[in-house]
Amino acid sequence: MNDDNRDIAAMPDNGEAFARLRAQLATQAPALLIDGRWQACASGATLEVDDPATGERIARIAAGDADDVDRAVAAARRAFRDGPWPRLPPSRRAAALFALADAIEREQDEFALLEALDAGHSLASIRRGDLPLGLRSLRDYAGWATKIAGEVPMRASEQAGMDYFLREPIGVVAIVTPWNAPFLMVLQKLAAALAAGCTVVIKPAELAPLSALRIGELCRHVGIPDGVVNIVTGTGPTAGQALAEHADVDLISFTGSTQVGQSIMAAAARSNLKRMVLELGGKSPVLVFADADLDKAARAIVGEIAFKSGQYCAAGSRLFVQRSIQDALLERMQAAMDGIRIGAGYAQGSDMGPMISQRQRERAQAIVDHSLGEGAQALRGGRARPGPGYFYEPTLLTQATPKMRIAREEIFAPVLTVMAFDDDATPAQVAALANDSHYGLSAKLWARDLGTVHELIGRLQSGQVIVNGGGGEATLPFGGVKQSGYGRENGHVGLSAYTEIKAVRLGY
Ligand code: NAD
Repeated sequence: MNDDNRDIAAMPDNGEAFARLRAQLATQAPALLIDGRWQACASGATLEVDDPATGERIARIAAGDADDVDRAVAAARRAFRDGPWPRLPPSRRAAALFALADAIEREQDEFALLEALDAGHSLASIRRGDLPLGLRSLRDYAGWATKIAGEVPMRASEQAGMDYFLREPIGVVAIVTPWNAPFLMVLQKLAAALAAGCTVVIKPAELAPLSALRIGELCRHVGIPDGVVNIVTGTGPTAGQALAEHADVDLISFTGSTQVGQSIMAAAARSNLKRMVLELGGKSPVLVFADADLDKAARAIVGEIAFKSGQYCAAGSRLFVQRSIQDALLERMQAAMDGIRIGAGYAQGSDMGPMISQRQRERAQAIVDHSLGEGAQALRGGRARPGPGYFYEPTLLTQATPKMRIAREEIFAPVLTVMAFDDDATPAQVAALANDSHYGLSAKLWARDLGTVHELIGRLQSGQVIVNGGGGEATLPFGGVKQSGYGRENGHVGLSAYTEIKAVRLGY
């Protein structure tokens, strides 16, 4: 890889659309969406949003605080208590969600460009991943809106009457999301909440809030009633914390770091015991056995660590490979890494964009440096790329040990740590290596022997096990064990978090 790669890829994919978008963002007034109206935040304060590929400012957003959160929660409460949304026939909520999906799909090119500019990811990865996944999730939940049901068990007592239970919308939902997949995270949570009949206050990540604002505008266009969808932009410690502390929020659906998840849990305990869905960090293991398809595995493993520049909660960042095939796998992986074209996410032909911020890049560098100091070796990368923006080289670290920071901490950068296991290690021993982590979000397994595969599926402590390749799927439950959080998203399993059960005993 050389510096020319990035220069080649510095041209916006669609120059005219890009210029239009930049101009429109530059003049967009910073505003919150509260009760169906875009309005300034109480303090008038704003935050800058940067293009991570250049460090240049692209927009200003409102810096909402606790007063704004109060107004937004009050609007969501009114819409829930008095408004039509929770009481609509479910088929009408479904129709509104299908209409929202259609509206987003009509603007998918604009959304892809906006997300590439704001979050830095390559257009190809957004078109292949976030957009179709987000739309599938939204349509899947639109379908679920008409299928939410309680049960009527047989009556246990002799007394005449009927026992049953209802599933009701849980109420006002706070949606707090990270910057690494802003469009997808907001859409998945919003879809579940709205399908269930809840009203919401969204607090998107301050580093990449722009797609959430556009989704909010489209909610208005498709006729979702005022107050059902509110958006308060702002920082985590102010707007996010105010939502976590708020006594009138019934559920907080959070995706982000384990550390912030812990503080949200504490705030929920201190305030009103609000319910929580916590999708937190990961340090996902990748296990490669000698009988795996090495060509396919090498491409997929490298592709995944380059996807979103490794800023992906389920990214396989700890590779355990059977010793006899280590060299063969590493050779293929280096070739795959050398083929990655680095450039602005919105640039023509770019495979991998920048990291989100200088701070994140410095944090990753500190972990890499610490581990290099302890004896790890960089076969590829190991450093930031010079020049504007927050680019980091795809990195392959060998000679690592399970105790090094690089093997324990979520790095959220395109950095892959390689460790070998003995050829005669049992599946139980390999699983123990993989399970030696506070996290348990996703585990990836490359092997053909069904006995090994089945035994490892049983032993891996992980919310998800992916065998021989594959990415996210909107209809399959997603979430973690251990400090990767709790609760699951997607499908009817995810939907249940947005409902509350009411048992009824009806005597005649
Ligand atoms: P973060 O935890 O710093 O921030 C996430 C959101 O929480 C942001 O909107 C932020 O403003 C807000 N926030 C920050 N402090 C807060 C506080 N005290 N109270 C309430 N809200 C607060 O995470 P990030 O850096 O934006 O995203 C990266 C993290 O997200 C990684 O750890 C990654 O693994 C995780 N993530 C997890 C999943 C998953 O599904 N498990 C998916 C994507 C990202």
